[in-house]
Amino acid sequence: METIQTDVAIIGAGGAGLRAAIALAQADPKIRIALISKVYPMRSHTCAAEGGAAGVIKDDDSFEQHFHDTVGGGDWLSDQDAVEYFIHEAPKELIQLEHWGCPWNREADGSVAVRPFGGMKIKRTWFAADKSGFHILHTLFQTSLQFQNIQRFDEYYATDLLVDDGRCQGFTAIEMRSGQMRCFKAGAVVIAGGGAGRMFPFNTNGAIKTGDGMALAYRAGAPLKDMEFVQYHPTGLPNTGTLLTEACRGEGGVLLNKDNYRFLQDYGMGPETPIGKPELKTMELGPRDRVSQSIWHEIQRGRSVKTAWGDCVWLDMRHLGEKKIDERLPFVRDICISYLGIDPVKEMVPIRPVVHYMMGGIHTDTKAATSLPGLFAAGECACVSINGANRLGSNSLVEILVFGKRAGLSALDHARSQKPGNDAALTTLADAAQAKLRALFMRNVGKESISGLRKEMMDTMEEGCGIYRTQESMAKTCDKISELRRRYQNVALHDKTNVYNTDLLSALELGSMLDCAEAVAVGGRERKESRGAHQRLDFTARDDSKYLKHSMAYYNGLEPPRIDYRDVVITSSPPGVRDYSGAKK
Ligand SMILES: Cc1cc2nc3c(=O)[nH]c(=O)nc-3n(C[C@H](O)[C@H](O)[C@H](O)COP(=O)(O)OP(=O)(O)OC[C@H]3O[C@@H](n4cnc5c(N)ncnc54)[C@H](O)[C@@H]3O)c2cc1C
Repeated sequence: METIQTDVAIIGAGGAGLRAAIALAQADPKIRIALISKVYPMRSHTCAAEGGAAGVIKDDDSFEQHFHDTVGGGDWLSDQDAVEYFIHEAPKELIQLEHWGCPWNREADGSVAVRPFGGMKIKRTWFAADKSGFHILHTLFQTSLQFQNIQRFDEYYATDLLVDDGRCQGFTAIEMRSGQMRCFKAGAVVIAGGGAGRMFPFNTNGAIKTGDGMALAYRAGAPLKDMEFVQYHPTGLPNTGTLLTEACRGEGGVLLNKDNYRFLQDYGMGPETPIGKPELKTMELGPRDRVSQSIWHEIQRGRSVKTAWGDCVWLDMRHLGEKKIDERLPFVRDICISYLGIDPVKEMVPIRPVVHYMMGGIHTDTKAATSLPGLFAAGECACVSINGANRLGSNSLVEILVFGKRAGLSALDHARSQKPGNDAALTTLADAAQAKLRALFMRNVGKESISGLRKEMMDTMEEGCGIYRTQESMAKTCDKISELRRRYQNVALHDKTNVYNTDLLSALELGSMLDCAEAVAVGGRERKESRGAHQRLDFTARDDSKYLKHSMAYYNGLEPPRIDYRDVVITSSPPGVRDYSGAKK
């Protein structure tokens, strides 16, 4: 097997992976950096982000307010030391992107423009129209090209971490073009593999968001944290799940039920504000968990709009006018016309909540180090715990920058401090990973199909772990996922060829999703309270006495994960009431 010897290897070339690579290359032009990605970097999901990135920049804003919005928005499950670091680094990173060429929108006076976003009680979301992710990723990608020591391995799929002598020293990956396995040996590894929303049937996520990065770390012994917290975004297109960014509401769009009534005022997000003049703090600018849950209640009350794709509510943007929509939300207009045949300038758009983001992920400390020495993680696959039980829109694009950089620099420190590994031991581990793959190729096609298992997984996740959950629904899903993980051992490939074998990739991605899905369901079943995105019909209140804790899921082979708990770091904000009523304090 061909070996690539490098100082730091990064799995994932989305926003977090590219930011880590640039930080490393800038820190030391001599170190060797391997950056691998299962797709061409610009196809990473970061590219799809629309609304923007949060960072304190205006005179009327303060770090303190960003801190409180984030911690309260996360229902006090965020680690406050991580949030403090994050909010202070955020503007530095956004200015850095500007210097690298990111075309942020401007105010009339030429300063950086900011827009309102859900749960942010002050305008602080920087944006580039509604294509912020595209511009951020492009800026990072073009910057990364300046550095000779970043060696890219596009269309490589990482399969197993190599852990010897108690530390992570590399991984194996399939070169998809040839089907050959490669062994990456490294002083440190950074995982920046993105989210896992594809385990649900209705989601905004790119097809590649299958939780591979989380599964790699999990199987190697690093725990997954707070996996039960899955974010539903309120405004997805009802047929495809394509996201209509929160900026639709930030710019003044309103949500209406079938009677054209702005129902959010009935769910603690009133008082009603004048249409077209969004009031920060209330109504459509409530946080995502609350807004999605309100839509669920409207559906239960029979006040939803019936469509061919199920129960919806209206998103009305007509009052914004064509000029503003074309300037601020051109992509949204495009999406509505292309996928639904509806022009938001002229008509209301039916929307329904859609799975969007994983708050949980690989547990890391504030230096992006996982529990496994030599392994670092950043971005959506990681859980450094700034998002707690509910992420605020526009914090993630900044998280990938702040902690991507941090992961790169921490990995460098680690790599420098290590003695060379035991070459022979690593080669033996890589051979074992290859043997596993060969065995998959050898298996005869039986009755289990990849698409069949995937469908069963998605259905049970939606049934058991949706916006509202119960003990019974989650227990059923836990059993089902456990059964599917066993049946997965019998899937076989129809395509036994080497070149771009997508059958093989689908099989491996399904394995990753099943492992992550089990952590979501078991974590949820064990958390007997309602907090943020984890809402239970049988335990409706938040229970700080028992569950002001992070859940930690430890991989346990074919058995369900062992769940343990870890204290939340509280520095200055004791748990309080989340108030989006607009009441003056
Ligand atoms: C439609 C949409 C809109 C969004 N809008 C916003 C927004 O406006 N503001 C905001 O803050 N957040 C937004 N988010 C969330 C945010 O975009 C993501 O959380 C963030 O971009 C994730 O970045 P990442 O670098 O962690 O992962 P990604 O960009 O998803 O990159 C993951 C990388 O890992 C690689 N990879 C994965 N597995 C493997 C493997 N096994 N081997 C090799 N490579 C692998 C992939 O190839 C890819 O390069 C949005 C998300 C979506 C889906």
